[in-house]
Amino acid sequence: MTESMHPFIGHSKLQTALGRACRIGNLPSSLLIHGMPGVGKQHLALWIAQVLLCQHKTPSGPCMACKSCVLSLRIEHPDLHWFFPVPRPKKARPDNLGEALENARQDSLIDKRKNFLRPISISSEPGGIYLATIKYLRSQVYKRPSMGFSQVFIIGDAQGMVSRNSSSEAANALLKILEEPPPNTFFIITCDVLRQLPATIISRTVAIHLAGIPTPEIKTFLLENLEIEEKEADKAARLSRGSIGRSLGFLKNEGNEGTLELARQKSFHFLRACLQGNKTLIYQEALQLSGSSSRTLGPVIDSLGEALRDLALFILGDEDKIINTDTLQFLENVCSKWTIHPLSITESFQYLDQAKEQVNNNINPQLIITSLLINIQEKLSASSK
Ligand SMILES: [Zn+2]
Repeated sequence: MTESMHPFIGHSKLQTALGRACRIGNLPSSLLIHGMPGVGKQHLALWIAQVLLCQHKTPSGPCMACKSCVLSLRIEHPDLHWFFPVPRPKKARPDNLGEALENARQDSLIDKRKNFLRPISISSEPGGIYLATIKYLRSQVYKRPSMGFSQVFIIGDAQGMVSRNSSSEAANALLKILEEPPPNTFFIITCDVLRQLPATIISRTVAIHLAGIPTPEIKTFLLENLEIEEKEADKAARLSRGSIGRSLGFLKNEGNEGTLELARQKSFHFLRACLQGNKTLIYQEALQLSGSSSRTLGPVIDSLGEALRDLALFILGDEDKIINTDTLQFLENVCSKWTIHPLSITESFQYLDQAKEQVNNNINPQLIITSLLINIQEKLSASSK
């Protein structure tokens, strides 16, 4: 990996419009970029920051050559401030929390610079953006820029301000800054879904939705930026749902299977357990979850939904639309053994929604999976051929 950002892809029209607004000095002082995890929100924010700070802006964006551009590309520009959720430092006392959080952010920045292309996080410790961090941000906002005329503040995954790990104090403090921004200061806030943020913050910003990227563009991007085989790129792109960060989760990472790939494999074990004449495999799968956190189940439940959809597509003869293409043999075996009505598959999706809600409420993972799989098994009520 090089220590600089790779090109931003998939949103060229939006990029052109934003680049132009930066060049003619027409960019709103507060932007809010929202879209699914891994679709490129932070990346777009960093690109806008690079354009704003560039000393020789061009019609297509930043010049890529000036001192500012070089520093922005390495995420080392002193007037580019990037904030994001970090886990609350365990040993910090209330009086040095701000410092501990800032140290954690700096450590994380070193990591992000080295490895910009990273899969979306499915970690059980989502972290937060705390009041102490917004206070630190405020102390930087009212300083003069170090190099040029502007400062850019990116607040990534801003839903971290209002997660269960922090409180609304951070959001209120940010709101005060957005209400009275100093001149030549830009704020770029990102979140997955708008409703995650307080309406007061949204009303102070101009919101931009970042849509999913078409599958062929993701495949090309993976082939151009990573040393992987075409077959792997094809699989990851098909499973990406339009998100680069998600596609990376299906690729091997330092010899280990990607976290989303592991979730996908698990979901097929679950589906296999549902498609038995008895509950033995269901109990075995549940037993294996002993000691795990219910939050890690979210991606598995999502994958199970996709596995069920693929099964329905196979039954309907719509194989071209199947995304788990490596499971065709399994689907064929299932269909040769059992008679399943596609409607019963559609109806079993309600149980996936229920299970996801239980995950959010931190219910015991073994209970969630046992009841989910038994419900699906009964709903499918596959009859032996
Ligand atoms: Zn430049």
